Amino acid sequence: MCLDHATGILRQIQPVHGVAADPARLRRIVAGPDISANVAATEDHKDHMGFYGASGIAHEFRTTVHPALHTEADILALAKTLQAMGVRHYVLQVFRATGCGDARLDAVSTLGYPGAELHALLFKKNREILDLMQVMTPAHVHTVDDRSLSSLLSSLWRAIRELRRANVDVAIDCELFSRISSLLSFASGASVRVGFHRHTQEGLYRGSHINRRVPYNPYHHISAQFLTLARAIDSTAVPKSKLPVMGAGKPPPHVQLDSALIQGIQSRLAQDFPGIAGKPLVLVYPGGGILPIRAWPLASYIALCEGLVADGCAVAVIGLKDDQALAQQLVASVTLALPAGPVIDLTGYTRSISELLALFHVARLLVTNDGGPGQFAALTPIWTLMLFGPETPGLYAPLTPRCHSFYSQWPCSPCLTAYNHRSSYCDGDNQCLKVIEPAGVLAKARECLASA
Ligand code: SF4
Repeated sequence: MCLDHATGILRQIQPVHGVAADPARLRRIVAGPDISANVAATEDHKDHMGFYGASGIAHEFRTTVHPALHTEADILALAKTLQAMGVRHYVLQVFRATGCGDARLDAVSTLGYPGAELHALLFKKNREILDLMQVMTPAHVHTVDDRSLSSLLSSLWRAIRELRRANVDVAIDCELFSRISSLLSFASGASVRVGFHRHTQEGLYRGSHINRRVPYNPYHHISAQFLTLARAIDSTAVPKSKLPVMGAGKPPPHVQLDSALIQGIQSRLAQDFPGIAGKPLVLVYPGGGILPIRAWPLASYIALCEGLVADGCAVAVIGLKDDQALAQQLVASVTLALPAGPVIDLTGYTRSISELLALFHVARLLVTNDGGPGQFAALTPIWTLMLFGPETPGLYAPLTPRCHSFYSQWPCSPCLTAYNHRSSYCDGDNQCLKVIEPAGVLAKARECLASA
């Protein structure tokens, strides 16, 4: 092939060239059964490096760094050699055991991605909880504001520009089947884009922007599936990440709240509801949020709350302002049966996620439908009883030993799944939840309160 022809092709493909090590060390590294062939390959390798470096062709050199084969001095020396040859783009990548097949090399491979810089892209309304968890450098959190079309478009534009400036190598799309997030992965400029993919299953089309495709598996906890996404980064298998499922995930770390915040909510409660003073506080969340089919019947909550109040507890109903009518119904029913109460309505009472978490620090127990409050509670020391019906705790139970899930294993459950875009086929009669007896929940509540 003539040089002009070769150069033309190379200009089109913009090669990424691998550099195993400096030529002298390469002799040692590649030494195998046919040492003469390996030495010839070494010389050939050196020629190629010089060719690319001097050609002006767009290129990138990469070295896969293995802790047993390279020292920092080796890499520095190699970088200087490449620089002298005119190479301008040189990338180091960490050796991974995946697909190597050499047990000796695999045994001392580096785990994880040491030194990797993490960025997050999320809706602005969800940012508070990420900040509270203190797992991300604030400047590396990029937000999308969906309060209006104009704020959505301008914040999307800004976020994409920020991500591109950060030179993101890998995008991990944690959405189950969102098309916009797969598009954003592509727009971020990341060359490796990991995400859930439908493969040969019907529906759930989300474009072809994901290039590390992982099947969604509704039989494994969602946290294990997110770990599978991370492990797919270097996978060469189809589908990606054919590795053993990581076992039960670790409980999330408790958020470190400002003690003034906890004291503040305590003082407000004491001032606004003096009747609860000195009693163990139990919170209940009877709302179903945007999926009311997830709600345990109100009559069951009322029976539970009557039992708790009779035991000497104070009961508070939590939820958003939209849940107020339901809360007032519950309060009225329990107060009618037990006029001394106390049972109070705290819907709309907390003004932020951090105040809600502070309330979880003050209360002893939360009884909740499947939804956000139960997941947030796992970031605090409160005991939680969570009622599952159309969804399964196998997929969404909070990963904390201080949470107990009730689930009836109903034959049609789970009917809410990513595969039907969480659109249940139920006629509204959620028997899966109705069969959970208040007496059983009350017995478990007493157990938790005794150990709290
Ligand atoms: S379809 Fe079955 S699992 Fe789904 S809400 Fe109705 S009873 Fe529950």
